[in-house]
Amino acid sequence: MTAADAKKGKETELAKKRRARVIDRLLAAAHPDAHCELDYSNPLELAVATILSAQCTDVRVNLTTPALFARYRDAADYADANPEDVEEIIRPTGFYRNKTRSIIGLGKALVEHHGGKLPEGMDDLVKLPGIGRKTANVIRGNAFGVPGITVDTHMIRITNRLKLVDGKDPVKLEFQLQKLVEPREWTMFSHRIIFHGRRVCIARKPACGACTLAAQCPSFGEGPTDPAEAAKLLKGDNVDELIRLAGIEHAVGA
Ligand code: SF4
Repeated sequence: MTAADAKKGKETELAKKRRARVIDRLLAAAHPDAHCELDYSNPLELAVATILSAQCTDVRVNLTTPALFARYRDAADYADANPEDVEEIIRPTGFYRNKTRSIIGLGKALVEHHGGKLPEGMDDLVKLPGIGRKTANVIRGNAFGVPGITVDTHMIRITNRLKLVDGKDPVKLEFQLQKLVEPREWTMFSHRIIFHGRRVCIARKPACGACTLAAQCPSFGEGPTDPAEAAKLLKGDNVDELIRLAGIEHAVGA
């Protein structure tokens, strides 16, 4: 019963690795459509959308980017942009002055050092304005097909609740998780955890009693364990399937 061992802090590294892989498989079944929820059609658009997503919902970013992407089509367009014009478009995403600086700076750096194209390498990406490891992993994983673990607020919260990691430092967590999850799963594991964080293991009140990871989670009970109460907390468009996978359909009358 490795979740119990994890709760007591007695889990071996091998047992933790096995539990991480079981968790990944359960998440794959619960969120088969997990994907990057930002809209984009090329690596530069994904980089810009990811910069805009800081402290903002993906839904809000997706409402904002069509006008931005229609007006600024490549790195040179951003490099030459008037900051006030960019600010006006991206204002709804918050922190718009900083984000404008990052986006225009990104355009300039790409034109000056990379022939206007986004580089693939982590070392090159993290030197670009507005791009840290989190954004670089999103770009590499989704636009270039290079496996990467994205450590955002959902990843930090959930992997700590699952006691797969210890601490909140994103870079340390990324390396801890790399040892637990197979490299070919890194990008999808990230999407699945983020989906789980938005639909089940919600920050304020996790739906423990309706969670398919319950038997694998040392933090079961952090949210309501009553199936009917927990089921009401589930979000998204596949709630019925989440209830079925949690085996609580009779308890909630679904
Ligand atoms: S059992 Fe609760 S705390 Fe654990 S992953 Fe599920 S919802 Fe989150």
